[in-house]
Amino acid sequence: MAEEKIILVTGGTGLVGKAIEKIVKEEEKRDDETWIFVSSKEADLSNLESTQQLFSKYKPTHVIHLAAMVGGLFHNMSHNLDFFRVNMKINDNVLDTSYKQGVKKVVSCLSTCIFPDKTTYPIDETMVHNGPPHPSNFGYSHAKRMLDVLNKAYYQQHGVTYTSVIPCNVFGPHDNYNLESSHVIPGLIRKLYDTIEKGGDEFKVLGTGKPLRQFIYSLDLARLFIWVLREYDSVEPIILSVDEKDEVTIAEVAEAIANAFQFKGRITFDTNAADGQLKKTASNRKLRELRGPGFEFTPFQQAVQESVAWFRENHSVARL
Ligand code: NDP
Repeated sequence: MAEEKIILVTGGTGLVGKAIEKIVKEEEKRDDETWIFVSSKEADLSNLESTQQLFSKYKPTHVIHLAAMVGGLFHNMSHNLDFFRVNMKINDNVLDTSYKQGVKKVVSCLSTCIFPDKTTYPIDETMVHNGPPHPSNFGYSHAKRMLDVLNKAYYQQHGVTYTSVIPCNVFGPHDNYNLESSHVIPGLIRKLYDTIEKGGDEFKVLGTGKPLRQFIYSLDLARLFIWVLREYDSVEPIILSVDEKDEVTIAEVAEAIANAFQFKGRITFDTNAADGQLKKTASNRKLRELRGPGFEFTPFQQAVQESVAWFRENHSVARL
């Protein structure tokens, strides 16, 4: 008989957590798996005692660790200390408690934005620690890199498979639309929504529009996360990203959002605002090799369309 799994998803109420919940319910249900999605309201994971209580309550055999202090470029630039300290505490508490309470497997979450600033492209999984991250988000980046250090040390000292995935930029339903702390896609969706509400005809985008980014739809990431939990057995991180050819400029992102809203006004660029890294192209070769043929990413325009539709329908409950 298959072993019963109790899978605890920390950060289970955020963008990625909600997507995993939907895919588990609608596509990937299995009788031998019980999934539990928790938010900070149930336990503050930056506090060790709360973390221990949460784990004692649910007794997970597996953990998907998503909980983190997360923000876009402008939030990161002004709060590097907070991003470092809070995320270091959360990660240490979650892995320490997982180990002490006998969790068999933990899949934590890094990000392609933590890679070295000066690097060769495409970036791959072997380059996480090769040089300093971009100065704009060094606090978040170093805290995330330490997850990989912890995973390797737990494996070396205790032989447990605590691993990590490295997603590119994520977007989708249940994103954070707060103008101060959002990532670029939800930030622009919110901005254009507000512009249209006010009858405006100018969609103002911060920066030059030139930076290149890879974006993964949260539901695609969710499918890959579930595959990693079930099938991927290495401690080494794995990049979960769309293909290199699917990289888009911020200007193309703005156009896709304008299309989804059927906005007919002007798109303008505030070239005085920061751009962040010009590109951070990541290779998904390892994923493509291990996952095999057949995995298709949702086309970008369709995913943006669905995300905009979600925001319009759920404006009253969205994180603004
Ligand atoms: P969200 O901001 O949407 O969600 C964050 C989640 O973490 C929420 O459930 C939140 O709970 C929880 N959380 C935050 N602080 C604490 C805390 N102190 N204790 C317990 N729970 C906490 O994040 P995403 O879904 O976007 O991100 C999920 C993971 O993916 C993160 O690790 C992030 O670094 C990573 N990632 C995200 C990318 C992106 O583009 N969004 C790109 C690459 C990686 P509550 O709802 O109660 O606040």
